[in-house]
Amino acid sequence: MKLDTKAIRYLTVEDWRVLTAVEMGSRNHEVVPTPLIQQISNLRGGSGVHKCISTLAKANLIAKVKNAKYDGYRLTYGGIDYLALNAHRKSSTVYSVGNQIGVGKESDIYVVASDSGLQRVLKIHRLGRISFRTVKTNRDYLRNRSSGSWMYMSRLAALKEFTFMQVLRDNGIPTPEPIAQNRHTIVMSLIDAFPLRQISSVPDPASLYAELLELIVRLASFGLIHGDFNEFNILVKEDAAPSSSLNSDEPPTITLTPIVIDFPQMISISHPDAEYYFDRDVNCIKRFFERRFHFTSDESGPFFKDATSNVTKRLDVEAEASGFSKKMARELEKYMKEVGVDGDGGVSGEGAKQAEDRASIGAEDDDDDECDAPQSVGDGKDVADQPRLPDATLFPG
Ligand code: ADP
Ligand code: MG
Repeated sequence: MKLDTKAIRYLTVEDWRVLTAVEMGSRNHEVVPTPLIQQISNLRGGSGVHKCISTLAKANLIAKVKNAKYDGYRLTYGGIDYLALNAHRKSSTVYSVGNQIGVGKESDIYVVASDSGLQRVLKIHRLGRISFRTVKTNRDYLRNRSSGSWMYMSRLAALKEFTFMQVLRDNGIPTPEPIAQNRHTIVMSLIDAFPLRQISSVPDPASLYAELLELIVRLASFGLIHGDFNEFNILVKEDAAPSSSLNSDEPPTITLTPIVIDFPQMISISHPDAEYYFDRDVNCIKRFFERRFHFTSDESGPFFKDATSNVTKRLDVEAEASGFSKKMARELEKYMKEVGVDGDGGVSGEGAKQAEDRASIGAEDDDDDECDAPQSVGDGKDVADQPRLPDATLFPG
């Protein structure tokens, strides 16, 4: 399910119209009957529609499905990717697509650029993709579900992530800047930093450790638990402050700022398993600091009870008010559980095995960290190693 933007510039207005018609038709048809596509797209002259359908099918944006009852088409991941990209183009959010910088279990991450050349990150949610391929029970389960559930759930994940990123950032939690959300995708600012996972040493582990635990506690005081707070989802920005002394030989002081990403699994402190996830987040950081930096804190905790005894603001409630409803939260959580998504911190069953295999492709070390996950594409290269400039212009002229 690689994002292949080659065909995007060749699609005509009519092709886009037909692609949109297939998307609309999939709301209540698993396989959209050809006459319905024709009807929704409302193109003059029947042959035009067939030409468009054939173009779209060749580009793998729609796929023909022979059904017992009728023939028709379904939208593919490629098709919905194109629709989302086109919407980002129209709103001047994305002009060109560059390198893929990350491949998670449930998402693909690309560097993109706006028309003024500003680099950004496009995250495409692909919920259920591992489970589709590996977990038999899940496959059976998914087969029996209503049409396009992966599509709907990927949209929910994107909407959730975008909504939470907005409320978190508005309240001073360091996250990327959320720029746009469309369908199963979000666009956010590019953070020029390494994930903690890729950092082999820090000058002062104790202070970074304290800062990270303070973040977990601050989130809880806002009514939230990240649920996947680990070395993959914390980007560490390095800023060199010029030396304060007059002696120019003195090395500059490096300040490290953690920035939190990846929010589809975030939960409220009112969730029945809140304490479990809070402790898991805390323990992920503890374990990582012990293994990587040989740092163990003298203090125990923080503890869920203390962290939630002083709730200052309910961002879980704010997120709900800004459009990510309780019902959506429940639907997404149920689906994620059923297909075995448990964040970077672990997936269950076969999915976990696959994730580990994929992790080893890009892994830098053989830590058998519990908080394990696939990361960058290629030989362990990440954001900072790769040429960044988006090369493929989507829509010339
Ligand atoms: P997943 O849900 O698949 O784990 P993440 O949101 O954690 O996806 O992103 C995966 C990887 O992509 C991150 O570990 C990081 O290396 C990179 N990444 C994601 N968002 C950004 C961003 N805004 N800026 C820079 N790198 C990013
Ligand atoms: Mg992640």
